[in-house]
Amino acid sequence: MWIGAHVSISNGLTAAVETVAQLKGNTFQFFSRNPRGGKARALDPEDIKAAHELMKAKKFGLVVAHAPYTYNLASAKQSVRGFTLRTLKDDLLRIKEMGIPYLVMHPGSHGGQGEEKGLALIIEGLQEVLSDFPEEVFILLEGMAGQGTELGYNFAHLATIIAGCDYHPNLGVCLDSCHLHGAGYDLSDFGRIKEEFAHVLGWEKLKVFHLNDAVFPLGSRKDRHAKIGEGNLGLETIKNIICDPDMQNIPIILETPNDNTGYEREIALLQKICS
Ligand code: FE
Ligand code: FE
Ligand code: ZN
Repeated sequence: MWIGAHVSISNGLTAAVETVAQLKGNTFQFFSRNPRGGKARALDPEDIKAAHELMKAKKFGLVVAHAPYTYNLASAKQSVRGFTLRTLKDDLLRIKEMGIPYLVMHPGSHGGQGEEKGLALIIEGLQEVLSDFPEEVFILLEGMAGQGTELGYNFAHLATIIAGCDYHPNLGVCLDSCHLHGAGYDLSDFGRIKEEFAHVLGWEKLKVFHLNDAVFPLGSRKDRHAKIGEGNLGLETIKNIICDPDMQNIPIILETPNDNTGYEREIALLQKICS
């Protein structure tokens, strides 16, 4: 099982790997740049090399970058779409440089233009990005809870975007247990959710899983993460997800409201839960 947490790379990639190793994780996620979308720091080739050596020694799985929340390919504002496209392209080059395969991104919010228009704008933006694309990296669209005018809260939205991009091989999906629950997908029967995902998108499109408990009830359309076992999902449901044979080669990333001590506890709990 690949399990880890969202950690900071403010002290460099190697320091992040060291932190995760201390937490007994074997994968992690970090923000590709400041979560509000500011300027990205220059990359240090020495740091990248040392990080990969350490990841190899510690037998890490695939690692994940997450794009800033300010990106919105579905915005009505040309300036926001332009900013998103420019920084997204830069992020992809940066993670390629860092040897990180995945960039998770929220699909976008239509802001009142309507879902159809919003989805069309996302497709238009992604087509541009994918037309000139480093083949070593993947954009993963994250399934959302459906707060406000957020798109991507059901498998059909994600399938529409992927089909609109002609099933580009570098376009995949990241699911989030809190978002699924908020969107109304009942994870107490994970087998059924898996079947539906496989039917609408194809199981192989799932590349990363965010594991969070949920503060609000099924179908709330609210996105508020809870600590593992302390929310609406509960430990039994979480166990059924992460112990599923089809989840064993997918990076599972905690984004629960924790400091590193809390993450260490959750990782230890989850690592023994399937045995
Ligand atoms: Fe996210
Ligand atoms: Fe998430
Ligand atoms: Zn969330």
